[in-house]
Amino acid sequence: KGGVGKTTTAINLAAALAASEFQVLLVDSDPQGNSTTGLGIEKTPDRNTLYQVLLREVSIRDSILPTASEGLSILPTDQNLVATNLDLVDAEEREIRLKTALEEVGDQFQYVIIDCPPALDLLTLNALVASNSVLIPIQCEFFALEGVSQLMDTVDRVKESFNPDLAIEGVLLTMYDDRTNLTRQVEADLREFFGEEVFKTVVPRTIRLAEAPSFGKSILAYDPRSRGAEAYIQLAKEILAHEQRAVKPESAQSAR
Ligand code: ATP
Ligand code: MG
Repeated sequence: KGGVGKTTTAINLAAALAASEFQVLLVDSDPQGNSTTGLGIEKTPDRNTLYQVLLREVSIRDSILPTASEGLSILPTDQNLVATNLDLVDAEEREIRLKTALEEVGDQFQYVIIDCPPALDLLTLNALVASNSVLIPIQCEFFALEGVSQLMDTVDRVKESFNPDLAIEGVLLTMYDDRTNLTRQVEADLREFFGEEVFKTVVPRTIRLAEAPSFGKSILAYDPRSRGAEAYIQLAKEILAHEQRAVKPESAQSAR
């Protein structure tokens, strides 16, 4: 769904994982390019982007850029990406292009975070096919669940056709304002509906989180002591802890 905090979460979760000393790649898979500009990467016409990688015109290795944050790299995007849906409509392997590209750099990164557009289009399909899991940000508002059942149907179809192991990483409550009854009511409904899948961490509504991208910075770089920074650091911890529980001793060699 549009405007629920996908990009804010992609940037700041990626930055929080990088701050935990992982090598992290953020893939900007939204033609709006908000993850790209939000990390201070200017859009210049002569730069390789995800668009050219998906068209197989350039290699992903030659397209990834470092960011100002240690350990955090980005595969940038610009508005040309909007043409992907049409350009690839009859192309071979059109659903697995991001997955095959990422396999080339899999040994360089422990985490890859993909920021999706607000549509269940070919870009989002490529992201779901390439991923181990899906993180679903939900804004605590009246129409919170709008679009979620379509997303779940899409996840099920991707599991059947392309990616049987695709998991739900969790549901993240964003723009949380505990002074309002509506937020608390929506939270109660979501926790009842999704149960354990809702992260304990909630992301507060704070102006600092909205400001950070205009300075080209993650919240950890912009205001590391803010409530927003704390929330995303906590979310990263929660995800890392989940993962440790999920890894059984005999498969520990595949652990990160
Ligand atoms: P789109 O669907 O357009 O890609 P999105 O789901 O990526 O949107 P964001 O861009 O992260 O959503 O957030 C939408 C707007 O809300 C932005 O202006 C952002 O700065 C603001 N915002 C996001 N999270 C918070 C928050 N926790 N507190 C205050 N403002 C927020
Ligand atoms: Mg976005």
